[in-house]
Amino acid sequence: MTDTPIDVQTAAAPVYTVPQERNVVTAVPGPKSLELQARRSKVVSAGVSSALPVYIERANGAILVDVDGNRFVDFGAGIGVTTVGHTEQRVVAAAADQLHDVIHTLFTITPYEEYVRVAELLAEHTPGNWEKKSVLVNSGAEAVENGVKIARKFTGRRAVAVLDHAYHGRTNLTMAMNYKAMPYATGFGPLAGDVYHAPNSYPYRDGLSGADAAARTVAYLEKVVGASDLACLVVEPIQGEGGFVVPADGFLPALQAWCTENGVVMIADEIQSGMARTGRYYASEHFGWEPDLVLSAKGIAGGLPLAAVTGRAEIMDASQPGGLGGTFGGNPVACAAAIAVFESIDENGLLAEGQRIEATFRAGLEKLARRYDIIGEIRGKGAMIALEFVQPGTAETTKAPNAEAVTAIIAYAAQHGVLFLNAGTYGNVLRFLPSLAVSDALIEDGLRVLDDALATLG
Ligand SMILES: *Cc1c(COP(=O)(O)O)cnc(C)c1O
Repeated sequence: MTDTPIDVQTAAAPVYTVPQERNVVTAVPGPKSLELQARRSKVVSAGVSSALPVYIERANGAILVDVDGNRFVDFGAGIGVTTVGHTEQRVVAAAADQLHDVIHTLFTITPYEEYVRVAELLAEHTPGNWEKKSVLVNSGAEAVENGVKIARKFTGRRAVAVLDHAYHGRTNLTMAMNYKAMPYATGFGPLAGDVYHAPNSYPYRDGLSGADAAARTVAYLEKVVGASDLACLVVEPIQGEGGFVVPADGFLPALQAWCTENGVVMIADEIQSGMARTGRYYASEHFGWEPDLVLSAKGIAGGLPLAAVTGRAEIMDASQPGGLGGTFGGNPVACAAAIAVFESIDENGLLAEGQRIEATFRAGLEKLARRYDIIGEIRGKGAMIALEFVQPGTAETTKAPNAEAVTAIIAYAAQHGVLFLNAGTYGNVLRFLPSLAVSDALIEDGLRVLDDALATLG
């Protein structure tokens, strides 16, 4: 036995292949990006937009390098996908090894161990101490679709409920589950039926306690839908596209209790909030919520496409053999990457990194909020932090949304080598969801640029 402690942090200290600092050397977008943008506009559907049309050639850690040689600090991580860092070394090595062994067999024809291992890791790390099973699919929306299918099969009921300000995807069913019609559903109907939108908990705007907000949601479900027809209630523990809306304490467990009493399957859409992003494996844990089913996607495989539905074995097993799956679902390379992501979270201490990132952000943002009255609220958990902007002088009164400020800040930051994203039903939320590899120095650098941007708003 040795009494020398092993310093995991040092042993696993990441090696970056790109300097972790911003550097702008051209106008943004630069000339090469503009050329690519011209080519793109001829052949890529106008229905696919890009928030910042700089074409990326390399990415590593928390930095994006474009074709013109500009380095951007990435506070978006591909919308919370490269949570362990861009081109994280364990993910790269595991995926590369897997490419040489097996790229595809189709799990529903001839299976392979990596799929089973991912399901074991999901069973272990999702909330709830009961027997769990999983199905692996390709995208977040596909996980939502499967969660609903599974809940309908288990309950023999038809209706699906979601919350106001939700976002669940762009497929036919999921576009009916989103709050915002524009741009996700407008003109794309007919939408799937039997989808009901119930009130959420939005403490900054409704001022309700968790118990009162839950009572309001339950009243809606009982009156408008009727529990006996309701298959599932799908909820993001922290709403992503809706603007990182953090529900009041007690809201989620109260809804789960009502669902359990009424035979409704409650599904956590942890597609944006899961996989260590908030300083816990799953954001549900912050609220003491143990969902029946949990949806994972985005951050699960370090950037490769993979998603999962995980949950109570009896619910997951209600579907007939052959009813779930798909050609690429649980691809071996994506699974190998996901296994590496779980290792990276544990061995690089990434849950603690999420907590560090939150502390650094809050310290800086609280100072800014004291100086700029258009910052209405700072909220979020871990590396999922947002500012909600309101019109000058309205923070104490109407809280009138201020989308113009967010648009101007994002444009200013892009010119200075910082990628910020917006969010929120009213477009008035600035969200930070960097990779967990982002250093305090980079966060402070990003906050200086934010301060400069705010100063230009006058
Ligand atoms: C991104 C997202 C989805 C959809 O995932 P895709 O992989 O884009 O289909 C669903 N739910 C939430 C909460 C998301 O953030």
